[in-house]
Amino acid sequence: MTADGELLGFLDSERDRQVDFLQRFARIDTANPPGDTRQAADLVRAFLDKEGIAHRTEAPKADNPNIIASFEGGKGPGRHLVLNGHLDVFPVGDRAAWQRDPWSGDIADGRLHGRGTVDMKCGTTAMLFVFAYLHRLRAELPGRVTLTVVSEEETGGKWGTGWLIENCAAEVLGDCVLNSEPSGVATVRFGEKSMVWLRFTIAVKGGHSAYPHTGGSAIKVAAALIQDLPAIESMMPDEPDTVRRTLDRPEVQKAVDQSLGAGAAGVLRRVSVNIGTIQGGVKINMLPPECVLEVDFRLPVGISRAAVLARVADIAKRHPGTRFEELLPGGPEANVSDPTHEMMGHLLRRAGALLDAPPQPIVSLGGTDTRFWRAMSVPAFVYGCSPAGMGGIDESVSIAEFHHVLRVHALAAVDYLAAARPK
Ligand SMILES: [Zn+2]
Repeated sequence: MTADGELLGFLDSERDRQVDFLQRFARIDTANPPGDTRQAADLVRAFLDKEGIAHRTEAPKADNPNIIASFEGGKGPGRHLVLNGHLDVFPVGDRAAWQRDPWSGDIADGRLHGRGTVDMKCGTTAMLFVFAYLHRLRAELPGRVTLTVVSEEETGGKWGTGWLIENCAAEVLGDCVLNSEPSGVATVRFGEKSMVWLRFTIAVKGGHSAYPHTGGSAIKVAAALIQDLPAIESMMPDEPDTVRRTLDRPEVQKAVDQSLGAGAAGVLRRVSVNIGTIQGGVKINMLPPECVLEVDFRLPVGISRAAVLARVADIAKRHPGTRFEELLPGGPEANVSDPTHEMMGHLLRRAGALLDAPPQPIVSLGGTDTRFWRAMSVPAFVYGCSPAGMGGIDESVSIAEFHHVLRVHALAAVDYLAAARPK
């Protein structure tokens, strides 16, 4: 039997086992904060043990374990494929608003319920099974496959993927990364926007409102600044050619709007500026001496943090008494992999064969751990279930999509590894 045929056998004959694992995973509270993932890590390790797969735990913070497992294929050297998923999930929020226990793992109407089932217990479970099935087929595959199941993704990844990339690079970098964060089955994501958060403080002399000639108004200055900042939205991104050509295609723009909401195609490729908070003034008859604004900038691929900060500095200079500081200094840049990379082709073809129409390659508005690999020039691609309900009340995932995502990743992984086999 071919590797494909055997793989399809595992995928189909173990559907109940796949759902059972996802259900048990969904029943473990891994809300972050606090982000204690030890019990979920036990579940993953028990699964790997049962499959006879060696693994190792790297826990720079004891309650944030990261699991690495890796094997060599039996057909000689080839490509090194890395699979990535995270254990932690968003907090529950208002528990009273949930119809079911957020950790119920209940199955109803083809959906599995629980906090984090969408982001990303469904995807992480899919990667675990993909890894186990590839391991069973290892005698027929060239190259190497590495699984990274990490913690602390929801709070930045410093102790999770970020730590592994910094401290275990030889093992976890690889040649290409598959990640199954929720993307919606109609899109494959090859890049993501970044964010810059700034706090502006405007300080002027102030005084009595009957004597406006004696001191300025920080709120007036803030109002003028608020008028000027959106000029940054007209900055033109310098996108790599392959990215520009991909995102220019009308069918891709349509997919962006469908996947991210109407109007998203316009937002995706420019800076967006949100004045999130404003605080100022002391009393109705006082000239306000201080006003503080917090502003969230989202940067597209092809516009650097430094370029935005320079434009902001230019604008701030024109407004007396204004200074600003970064709230998330040293954050990631918008990042992108080549949308014409071979792996993209495998994902689009394998998913397209199972759907009415092939998915489209797009860039994501939100961030994932794939940025750590992209920062090291390792191509990384995201394909997962629908993001609908992610992080919301009554989160639940479609079981059919879970099986679909698992299948697409498994088949694309075999395509990618087998393509390096000497003819
Ligand atoms: Zn996630």
